[in-house]
Amino acid sequence: MSSIIQLLPDHVANQIAAGEVVQRPASVVKELLENAVDAKATNIKLIVKDAGRSLVQVIDNGQGMNVTDSRMCFERHATSKIRHAEDLFSLYTKGFRGEALASIAAIAHVELKTKQENDELGTHIIIEGSKFISQDPAVLPKGTSFAVKNLFFNIPARRNFLKSETVEHRHIIDEFQRVALAHPAIHFTFIHNGSELFNLPSSNLRQRIVNLFAGKTNEKLVPISEETEIVKVQGFIAKPEFSKKSRTEQFFFVNDRFIKSGYLHHAVMAAYEGLLKDGMQPAYFIYLEVPPNTIDINIHPTKTEIKFDDEHSLYAILRSTVKHSLGQFNVAPVLDFERDPNLDTPYHYQEKEASVPLIQIDANFNPFADDKPSKSYSGSSYREKRADAPAWESLYVGLKNDVQEIDVHSFEQVAVSSSLFNDVDLEESQNRTYQIHKKYIVSSIKSGMMVIDQQRAHQRILYEQYLKNMTVHQASSQQLLFPLELFFSVHEIQLLNELKPSLVTTGFVFDSIENDKVIISGIPVHVTESEVSIVLEELMNDLQSDTPENSFSLNDSIAKSMAKSLAVRTGTYLTEKEQENIVNSLFACKEPDVSPFHKPTFITISVDDLDKKFAI
Ligand code: ADP
Ligand code: MG
Repeated sequence: MSSIIQLLPDHVANQIAAGEVVQRPASVVKELLENAVDAKATNIKLIVKDAGRSLVQVIDNGQGMNVTDSRMCFERHATSKIRHAEDLFSLYTKGFRGEALASIAAIAHVELKTKQENDELGTHIIIEGSKFISQDPAVLPKGTSFAVKNLFFNIPARRNFLKSETVEHRHIIDEFQRVALAHPAIHFTFIHNGSELFNLPSSNLRQRIVNLFAGKTNEKLVPISEETEIVKVQGFIAKPEFSKKSRTEQFFFVNDRFIKSGYLHHAVMAAYEGLLKDGMQPAYFIYLEVPPNTIDINIHPTKTEIKFDDEHSLYAILRSTVKHSLGQFNVAPVLDFERDPNLDTPYHYQEKEASVPLIQIDANFNPFADDKPSKSYSGSSYREKRADAPAWESLYVGLKNDVQEIDVHSFEQVAVSSSLFNDVDLEESQNRTYQIHKKYIVSSIKSGMMVIDQQRAHQRILYEQYLKNMTVHQASSQQLLFPLELFFSVHEIQLLNELKPSLVTTGFVFDSIENDKVIISGIPVHVTESEVSIVLEELMNDLQSDTPENSFSLNDSIAKSMAKSLAVRTGTYLTEKEQENIVNSLFACKEPDVSPFHKPTFITISVDDLDKKFAI
């Protein structure tokens, strides 16, 4: 039989490679801008038409190319940036694969004009779908212009696959912003459909950020700076009160290359812990400089992910750097999320005529009637549970009985808590408690009063309970009438298998864990069915982000994660009975004064302190 294997012709190979390099017009923008930066341009102009479908053009004043190179640059694996494999470990350029131009030229109409400083004439090349159409000498200024027209003209499927103009335009802006943020010294202009979107003169970093994001950006930025042997950290983070729901203003750069890193993001968020409302995101512009031989930028085809040699140290350094700046610029203590917006009276109110207030009386109001929880709860946990108080009480059944077992000596180390323990447990347990702002429980104690953070307190209670179940005795579980089927990724299933022994001690019963499916027939008593998937997902998230130094053991991590997912949240209404349960159970804990995440769970105010306040 004759041989059937053949080498693919270049233009076909290029088209295939293009699938990886050029996913959408924004990919062309990225490659052309990066080439201009690599060519040491100080002025770069981006011109786009129809969100890149009809035209993406980049004009730079960089070093340009000579006649041979300007033709050569369209060949696959043609690059001036590396020569040997070892060069990969000392990269200072954006590009290195030599694939971008070959790929782009395979799927578009490309026009290149380029001239080097000392050449009299430049070169003008036209190439369409990998086919050379013409190459002529031309009178040109120094630098290079690439115009990419009719992208995907020969791959209709890809062209039709493009998203709406708005979406593609957004992607282009994203790429432009990333390159512009990485190089504030370069003058960038961006023109879309004939109008100038950005004109960013050469400036310092702060000015560049402000020019890109306008508005209040300047007042929200706090600088960060740290230099160690393995990394230099610089940039800006935003004050927590300017945080937003979206993550659009979060940027990491490593050696001036934009990267995405869930791990480093986690480090930043850890530094903000306690300063942000649930689900809010701070803006940050963080620049890391590391020796190029300690990173591998080769693991992702579009190069936004990087592998670091020493991720754990980077994590710790980054977190403490951010934390330090938040503290140094006095950002942390002035925060007041619970501030009543009514206090901020708009100025024009001063001119407004006063009107007689209307008093509405609810004749049916009965202060002793069962209060229904108002509004929604912010967290995933507790939603169903709230409806039936008994389930709540069952939370503490085990703990209450265990009060006597607790080693009293452990309290003596903490002066405040030991006296409090006596106060609460022996004398004042009949005291009323009050909930304020659906956040704090206030209770009177012998020496004065105590304010407890409900969420943190409950985290502490659950955390100790889980740990105890895991190490001392197994928790009971509730049998499900219909076993739950949950689906996970292969990687997560692997993780679940490892966690299984610990999870079983908290009350989970696994019927089977296989391929991508888990069948659960029993769950911990205080978890509702609908919470199971959330708890497991959060648990795996927490464990995969594997924050160093936070946890001692797997059990500890699991207990922390579950306590975090299941604790009652700020914003949750609590009945008096529930408040009392929290207070009692908290002080039955071994370490009642801090949450599992080392945040204070309560504060006390003595009568003396109160007296002093009234003495003025
Ligand atoms: P890479 O950037 O990975 O080297 P490209 O296909 O993007 O691969 O570019 C190939 C080569 O063309 C580059 O290595 C560079 O020498 C040259 N080149 C590309 N764009 C420019 C430009 N704007 N100015 C000068 N030279 C360029
Ligand atoms: Mg390139």
